[in-house]
Amino acid sequence: MQKVTRRKFVQTSAVAAGGTYAASKFLFGPLETMAVADELAQAGPVEDFIATTCWIGKQDCGMIARRIDGRVIKFEGNPTNPRNVGTLCPKGHAQIVSLYDPNRVKWPLIRTNAKGESGEVRRATWDEAIQLVASTVNEVRERNPKLVLWQKGRSKAKKFYDDAFVKSIGSNKLGHGAYCSDAGYRALEYTIGTHAVLHPDFRFCNYMLSWGWNITNAGGNKTCWITWPRHMVKARERGMKIAHIDPRLRSAGPFADTWLPIRPGTDLALALALCHELIALGHLDVPYLTRYTNGAFLVKGDGTVAKITVGEGDEATDVGLVWDEDTGTAMPLDEARSPVLEGEFQVDGDAVKTSFSLFREHVAANTPEWAADITGLTAAQIREMASDFGENAMIGSTLVVDGVEVPYRPVGIMAYHMAQQELGFQTARAMTMVSMLVGAVGAAGGQLSDYDWKIYKNYAKFEKFTVEDPPYDYLLNNSKYFPINTGLPGMVARVMNDPDRYGVEELPEVAILHMVNPLASFASQPEFIESYKKFKFVAVISPWLSETADYFADVVLPAATIEKFEGPIDASDQYSTATTLRVPPMEPLFESKGEIDIYLDLCEAMGTLYGEGGYLEWVNKGLGLVGDNESFAIPTDTKPEVRDIFGIGPSPRGSTLHSSRIRSMESSTRGRASRQRCTAM
Ligand code: SF4
Repeated sequence: MQKVTRRKFVQTSAVAAGGTYAASKFLFGPLETMAVADELAQAGPVEDFIATTCWIGKQDCGMIARRIDGRVIKFEGNPTNPRNVGTLCPKGHAQIVSLYDPNRVKWPLIRTNAKGESGEVRRATWDEAIQLVASTVNEVRERNPKLVLWQKGRSKAKKFYDDAFVKSIGSNKLGHGAYCSDAGYRALEYTIGTHAVLHPDFRFCNYMLSWGWNITNAGGNKTCWITWPRHMVKARERGMKIAHIDPRLRSAGPFADTWLPIRPGTDLALALALCHELIALGHLDVPYLTRYTNGAFLVKGDGTVAKITVGEGDEATDVGLVWDEDTGTAMPLDEARSPVLEGEFQVDGDAVKTSFSLFREHVAANTPEWAADITGLTAAQIREMASDFGENAMIGSTLVVDGVEVPYRPVGIMAYHMAQQELGFQTARAMTMVSMLVGAVGAAGGQLSDYDWKIYKNYAKFEKFTVEDPPYDYLLNNSKYFPINTGLPGMVARVMNDPDRYGVEELPEVAILHMVNPLASFASQPEFIESYKKFKFVAVISPWLSETADYFADVVLPAATIEKFEGPIDASDQYSTATTLRVPPMEPLFESKGEIDIYLDLCEAMGTLYGEGGYLEWVNKGLGLVGDNESFAIPTDTKPEVRDIFGIGPSPRGSTLHSSRIRSMESSTRGRASRQRCTAM
């Protein structure tokens, strides 16, 4: 099997891109310098600044682009952005290298040799390349739109622009997959309803379990390695204690009070032992567990919750029963004056136990000694950690925040990628249980997750998921393999290589790859090479000729780097709400285009741009330009310029950013929901 190495790729792509190389020398070489120098000598340089948003990283830090004569010469942090307040990480500063990278794809390319070997390409016009992609995709869509697979590595424009494209053409969508934080997200959605992982309320937290978190050099969970460490350092100065649970001390040394060098991949055992010990020590927020979790729900012998139907007709819904001590009967939680958290009862002749009683039984064997054997920590260390966590939780206390008295539980866990291990889903759930037992979820100083406590759609969906019989689609949706999560690229590659094994009958024929490089990014390369040979057509949208593009792209559409409009983008540091935009600090270099431009062109050519169900209608929905905001909507019968979508005037200088449409977008993203304490064990 042919193996693609980066060295080989660089050698071969340099040869294949000979014409491109020559053009880049012309653009950045002595000729241009001399021409510009000549002009400057006469007029003098003009310096100006453009406010924009970092493009190279995940967290969208606010940036100021310093320009001389219209060309960016430096990126600096934007001091008005609450997330990064005037700072940038080294990668943010260094993205100027990406902007001026001479190896960028400079114009559309069409393959001239067979797929599966290093690419030979020719320069094409945008019109030719777009028409080729559109006609090929449409031919497949007419038979079955799901035979088109769209995949992206990291969405920067905002996910709804991607969704708008995928929905308008009816294709399947694949992201960068479950090996990232997906299992953590699903765990929290399933357990407390939020679409995020775990972090504490740094403002008031007094004791934090820093669990697998690179304390000064890592971000995740919606904010970055600038913002979280800033919160953490402030909390340290206030006196917050940190127990650092990590096989390596890393940079936590000066910031951690305790280092617990856990054996890799054993975090689930530690979390279960902490649950065991918190229960054993009585560190339980009984009113919270009874009223705000399903801990009091009665569970039948078959493992299902005892329920009753309330309401009639379309209003009818099944609700769980709890045991009411006052009346000695089972009833819905809302009606019970004295619901009990623990016990065994009889309901309609069935023996039932509360969910919390079952949980206590479940963790009864997960003693500190049991976990010590697995984790490499000592039982005494685990006991001390549980005791510190429970005592610092100050169960029963309240705090007045902004004039409102709220529960105060100043303990929490910082963990993001801890779900990237075998049983990672259950690990993140067990960690969340640790915080739930002491009532810290959503409390001041306690366990936070998403910023706004909006209950994500999966919370209800996971209650009703079904496992279907084969044949499955090639993403294995609702299959016995992945009943609640799917979309792992490596799994799709396996399915494509052996569809019978997974009960799959139809495989994708066309791939549209947007800023993703499966051959180099995902395990394992041989399987990806084999699976990509099965695609009849591959279109790549990227600023660079990746390994995957080199070996498999039929067409490469050159995407811009930071030189484009994107957004609106959340700039919150979780304590302040803000919205920002990515504004092109200069015109796109070479013949590259912003992704929204490319999708407008593709949809126009495919006939999926206008009208009901078209790309523009989906973009309007994504921007919230519906209902009361409909008067700000983009017309769905005319192809807009991308700057029209943002309601921005003709200058890319950002001075007219606050148009009515932008204000409307902002208002639709404000009004964050008040915190809900809605959790499930
Ligand atoms: S942390 Fe901020 S500045 Fe650094 S790469 Fe990420 S978004 Fe850009």
